[in-house]
Amino acid sequence: MGEILEMVEGYENILVLGCGTCVTVCLSGGEREAAILAGQLRIWGKKEGKNLNVMEHTIQRQCEKEWVDEMRGHVEKADVVLSLACGVGVQLVAEMYEDKAVYPGLNTTFMGYPVEHGTWLENCRGCGNCVLAHTAGVCPITRCAKSLLNGPCGGSQNGKCEISKETECAWQLIYDRLKTKERLEWMNSYQPPRDWSTAGDGGPRKSVKIEEVVD
Ligand code: SF4
Ligand code: SF4
Repeated sequence: MGEILEMVEGYENILVLGCGTCVTVCLSGGEREAAILAGQLRIWGKKEGKNLNVMEHTIQRQCEKEWVDEMRGHVEKADVVLSLACGVGVQLVAEMYEDKAVYPGLNTTFMGYPVEHGTWLENCRGCGNCVLAHTAGVCPITRCAKSLLNGPCGGSQNGKCEISKETECAWQLIYDRLKTKERLEWMNSYQPPRDWSTAGDGGPRKSVKIEEVVD
C-alpha cells in the first residue's frame, strides 16, 4: 500500500482498473479487489484531508486492445490509472493511453496454477524451448532452483531441494516419474544449452499465427 500511495501522490482523480480474467481467478485484481483498493484509497484520502475522486472499473481483459479501447470514457476522467492487471495489461494500458499516468496496482509474480485453495505454484517460464516431453512433464527450468537441464546437482536430500526442506527437488520428481513410465533411459538424453536466440535478437519475443488456407 505504501508503494501505491507514493504512485498516486499529487493526483486527485484516480481510476482503479480491475481485469476480469486471470487476476480475477487469482483473487488479486478483479472487480472485488478493485473495489477493496478503491475503498482503501478513499479512506486514506479522508484521513489525510485530501479531496480525492476514486473511481473503479473492471474490463474483461487488459491484454487486448479492443477491451482497453472500450474503456476510453473512464480513463479520460482520470489523472492516474492504477491497473490491477498483470504486467502485460499494465503495459498495454500505458501504451494506449500515453498521456495518462498508468501504474501497477499489484506485483506480477509468475505463471502457475493453484495447488490448493489460495496457494499457487510456478511451473512455466514460457522459455520457448519446451523440454517437458523429456522430463515427464516436470519443468526443470522453473522447478529446479538452478534450472538444471541435465540431471540433478548434488544437493538433493530425501527428495527435497537443497534450498529448502519445503521444496521438492525437480530432478527427483523427474526421475520418479520417468521410472514409473519405464523411461528412465531418458535421464541419459543430453539437453543442449538453452537457445536464447528464440527470443529474437534480444527484446520481446513475438508469436505469429499463420492462418491455414482451406480450398
Ligand atoms: S521447458 Fe519449462 S519454461 Fe520452458 S516452455 Fe516448457 S514448461 Fe515452460
Ligand atoms: S536439489 Fe534438485 S531442485 Fe534443487 S537445485 Fe539441485 S537438482 Fe535442482
